[in-house]
Amino acid sequence: MTPIYLDHAATSFPKAPGTTEAMVHYLTQVGASVNRGVYHSAQQAGLVCLSLRETLCELFHHDDPTCCLLTPGATWGINLVLRGLLKTGDHVLVSSMEHNAVMRPLRQLEAFGITFDRIPCDGDGYLDLSAMERLIRPNTRLVAISHSSNVSGAVQDAAAIGRICRAHGVYFLLDGAQTGGHWPIDMQAMGISALALPGHKGLLGPQGIGALLLSRSLAETLSPVVTGGTGSASHTEYQPDYLPDKFEPGTPNLPGIYGLEAAVRFVASRGIEAFRKEEQELSRRFLDGLKDIDRIHLAGPWDHRDRTAVFSLDFPGQDNAEIAWRLETEFGILTRCGLHCAPSAHKTLGTFPHGTVRFSFGFGTTEHHIDSALEAIRILSSD
Ligand code: PMP
Repeated sequence: MTPIYLDHAATSFPKAPGTTEAMVHYLTQVGASVNRGVYHSAQQAGLVCLSLRETLCELFHHDDPTCCLLTPGATWGINLVLRGLLKTGDHVLVSSMEHNAVMRPLRQLEAFGITFDRIPCDGDGYLDLSAMERLIRPNTRLVAISHSSNVSGAVQDAAAIGRICRAHGVYFLLDGAQTGGHWPIDMQAMGISALALPGHKGLLGPQGIGALLLSRSLAETLSPVVTGGTGSASHTEYQPDYLPDKFEPGTPNLPGIYGLEAAVRFVASRGIEAFRKEEQELSRRFLDGLKDIDRIHLAGPWDHRDRTAVFSLDFPGQDNAEIAWRLETEFGILTRCGLHCAPSAHKTLGTFPHGTVRFSFGFGTTEHHIDSALEAIRILSSD
């Protein structure tokens, strides 16, 4: 039985063409670090880092590659913003759909006198924008929102959130873990101050590398959380305040950078809109099929338009973990069950604490995969 990989919300598989080759090329032919040598291979590695920053800026509409930080992933970028910005007495707004990548650092920061409120979302996971405006306080410093829920797939109206943030002089952190590469993001038009991205999901690169794109004003305000050698300004023991060195101490993940650079060139050559269209067609097919199946509950929107291809299903009266196990052992279908690191999202959707079985589609998913999943759901739900 050939496995059918339907867990793209966790990580993409397969990766973009050229990703593996670029990583092997680095490890076997280049091998040098960046910013630390003047020989040719070190210069080449520096150029690949620059190319990655430039392509990310092009994809997400930012005009300054020095404000594109290379990080180990979305979680890292989110932490850089929360810990580097917030001070005692500051207040943060989040949605009720956040991932623990946002909630756990905020829970830790509570001990330092930082408070937060959750903006309510409806039963599909869409944010209540008027409630957001009412919850802003004079000490609100940041709004941190997941662009699309990794549980329900609902995509928030980032442009509207950005407008409210701008009107109130509040920074806007967008967690792009579920939309980077899947859904168009225009940092400038949407008024985004910080965009945290993993390289291994919609950008189709390897794990352990991602990016944090910062507006110039936030980049200048933010304190670096981790400091150390940058290969630059080596005469001083103080962290340089110029970008990106201010936030990039230590030797970076160069195999990851080479892999991601190749992957984002592929994503850019195809265009994010093409990925969105393809995934929306798959979503439409899946939703059409689900409508004919009685004994399942979809925790998320039935409309294929303002959503990503992430579908959480509850099989009432059955154990979701057992369903996921049977999906693999009887049908070769790989999904993820449980609470998906997002207890607050499941509370919002009414699926806490039992969780759901999540089917998520992406690069490489075919109509045949969707039909196989529907057939399996039909059989399992009727047991
Ligand atoms: N936010 C959301 C909404 C996510 O789905 C994830 C990954 N599951 C993250 C943040 C964290 O991403 P990473 O594990 O790549 O740091």
